[in-house]
Amino acid sequence: MAKILVVDEEPMIHEVVEAALEDQAHEVVGCVDTASALAAAEEPIDLLLLHRGLPEDRCLELVARCRRAGDPAIVLLSSQENLESERNKLRLGAGEILYKPIDPVVLRGVVERQLSRNQARLEVPKSPRLLVVDDDPLVKAAVVDILEDNGFEVVAAPSAHRALELLAERPIEIVLTDVMMQGLSGIDLLASLPSVAPNTRAVVMTGYASKDLAVQALRRGASDLLEKPLTPDLVLRAVERTWRLQRYELDNMRLLGELRRINQELLLAKEAAEAASRAKSDFLATISHEVRTPLNGVLGCLDLLEGTPLDNSQEQFLAGAQKSGRALLSMLTDVLDYVSVQGSAPVPDLDPVDPGALVTACVEKARPRVAEAGLELALEVGESVPEEVVLDSRRVERVLDNLLDNARKFTRSGGIGVRLEGGEGQIRIVVHDTGEGMAPEQREAIFQPFYQVDGGPTRQVGGTGLGLALCRSLVRAMGGEIEVSSEPGRGSEFVVTLPVRPRPSEPSEAEGPITVPAEESARAPRALLADDDASNTFVLEKMLDRLGFEVVKAENGQQALDQFGGGPFDLVLLDYQMPVLDGPATAIRLRQLEREAGWPPSLLVAVTGFGLEEHEEKCRESGFDRFLTKPLRFARLQELTAEQRGRSRASNG
Ligand code: ADP
Repeated sequence: MAKILVVDEEPMIHEVVEAALEDQAHEVVGCVDTASALAAAEEPIDLLLLHRGLPEDRCLELVARCRRAGDPAIVLLSSQENLESERNKLRLGAGEILYKPIDPVVLRGVVERQLSRNQARLEVPKSPRLLVVDDDPLVKAAVVDILEDNGFEVVAAPSAHRALELLAERPIEIVLTDVMMQGLSGIDLLASLPSVAPNTRAVVMTGYASKDLAVQALRRGASDLLEKPLTPDLVLRAVERTWRLQRYELDNMRLLGELRRINQELLLAKEAAEAASRAKSDFLATISHEVRTPLNGVLGCLDLLEGTPLDNSQEQFLAGAQKSGRALLSMLTDVLDYVSVQGSAPVPDLDPVDPGALVTACVEKARPRVAEAGLELALEVGESVPEEVVLDSRRVERVLDNLLDNARKFTRSGGIGVRLEGGEGQIRIVVHDTGEGMAPEQREAIFQPFYQVDGGPTRQVGGTGLGLALCRSLVRAMGGEIEVSSEPGRGSEFVVTLPVRPRPSEPSEAEGPITVPAEESARAPRALLADDDASNTFVLEKMLDRLGFEVVKAENGQQALDQFGGGPFDLVLLDYQMPVLDGPATAIRLRQLEREAGWPPSLLVAVTGFGLEEHEEKCRESGFDRFLTKPLRFARLQELTAEQRGRSRASNG
């Protein structure tokens, strides 16, 4: 008797299973959800019939619980024959999938097969247990004698019918059966074996050499044929041959079962590790976000302060506060970026760019700080560098900024060189310096998150130890590689290799609306500002005010929608996370309102504390034009409003 646990949210399924297994002595326990199933799985069960539509993490938990208590066979119940079902089967370590609607005969077969596999997995006997089936009592006794004399455990049956009963009752490895018998024949017995005793092999004994019968028996899965009259030698050799083959099969099955179990354990461990890592990432993201929000307020106020009359020493204090604030911001950005890249492989944001111009811009951006440190900075763009390629310029810039920043931080004297080289379908960016370099064992370690060669308290330069880990993740996400060669005291060289595509050819005629010379609109531009954080709203309002906007405020998405109904806005800034209605949901409805009213599309900007890839993706999908992370700087807002003016000119024309 086996204990079978059926977990399916449809109670009807439990009834179907119970009815199908009615004449078997199994105990069937039905659960409609994983919570009650988890309680039921505290006790060992033999077979778990599990509907695959239930939440996957709960299923994994349930399977883990069952395996802690025992070693059940698992069968998935599924309504659809598809890849997802197969994947689930693999993940849960299920032996089979049973498709709905459930056929009682198929169900019985599956249940017995799984239960017997389970048994077989547990025990492979040293020598086979045998069953002799013959309606001729003399032959039967003779064969039993031969086998018993040679130490085998033997039972006998006078008919195929009785043989089937014995097979259902006890484990038997090999059946030696006559073919021509009263009632069920030996061939019938062979036909029933797969469902009654799937691991049992059969040797067929024929009274007269009939080729037809032999062929039929082999087709039905007989392992061997014996021709009467039987000699001890013939019988023993047939049993030996069959047992040798069967032992392999049983051993294989046992090993497969073990592998499946180990695989399952590994999957569960991996799952748990991933969940822990996700929790850590979420925690980091939340903390960074929480710190960035007030930092937004601080930096914004400092920007505003910069525009007021200040005496000399006040200006110095301000510069100091701004510098520290920005350093803190860049650290938080590193953490958020790293968490975001780890969370999901970033979708490349490809655009056609001039790689020479891109690298030059980065180098020029770094130049003032490098000069301040008293270092040289040289740039060399190779002749073979293509003029335009398609790549993810934002990420390339991020990587190069990081490498340049490191080169500056870890170089006391001499200088930094940047070289851009072109190759077959790729570009190489080389950043080398005459700095402190590093030992061979550190060359790999520096790409690990939080690793710093000199991480001690006497460390001279700042940093989180995330820069290079982030660089490597970004470069690999773009299909490239980053490598370092370095020696202590002799400088370092970082080489980034990136695959690039040539720019796709353009359609020959210009598309899109024809613009008419601009006509400045007379009214002041209007901005709608929605954020539940009062200090953010305060800073942004002041900045927009300074840029000549008439500002309308809202504390959540719903309020923003109400305000928006009052007339078209040129610029809409929505916080990502807001009570009542969040940024993306508001954006979708706002775009809808706009279309219905026939207004020109406003410049719709998402403002978020998170810099996460998935958020950016979601914003794009919900109709935002721009995605900006806090703190929003005055300069960035200025750029945005210039863009907005360009747009409104185009749409006025
Ligand atoms: P961080 O710069 O924030 O410490 P990174 O991941 O960018 O983090 O770098 C990790 C470590 O690798 C640094 O702390 C430093 O020890 C070493 N490193 C990185 N770039 C250089 C370089 N150009 N020269 C020498 N050491 C470097």
